[in-house]
Amino acid sequence: MNKRTLWVNPAQCTGCGTCVEICPVNAITLVDGHARIAEEVCTGCGACVTSCPEHAIQEVIEARIIPLPERPAPAVYQPGPLMRQVATTVAVVGTGVLVKLLQSGARLLGQWLTSSHAPTISSLTQGTPGGMRGSGRQLRMRRRGH
Ligand code: SF4
Ligand code: SF4
Repeated sequence: MNKRTLWVNPAQCTGCGTCVEICPVNAITLVDGHARIAEEVCTGCGACVTSCPEHAIQEVIEARIIPLPERPAPAVYQPGPLMRQVATTVAVVGTGVLVKLLQSGARLLGQWLTSSHAPTISSLTQGTPGGMRGSGRQLRMRRRGH
């Protein structure tokens, strides 16, 4: 426990000397007509505070920071066996669904490519002179009349 700290308000002290007389350890002296307390001598008994007729001696309350008690580190979440099982099941099922979707997409793409909507070799050669078939060199030679 800290010792009380006292302060003499010079605006209120009249220098009557009452506190000087009552202090049991002679910690108070009059300087320039005002009481002055020697902190190193004062025991903080408070006798001068109650004896001053002018209420010129006041206690100084010092604020201090009180450290918080040590707190344990926050616990790291560890999933239990049930949650691990659920996570594994979700991963397996999700992977299976993804594979099924990819297979369906590949099948649809194959069907579309083999359907009549997709361009064929014959449709690509349509519009060539005389509906000719053959390689590009053969087509050019035929066009020139060879
Ligand atoms: S008793 Fe009060 S007014 Fe008188 S000298 Fe002491 S502090 Fe000042
Ligand atoms: S608190 Fe007690 S010891 Fe300190 S100055 Fe006042 S009378 Fe003296």
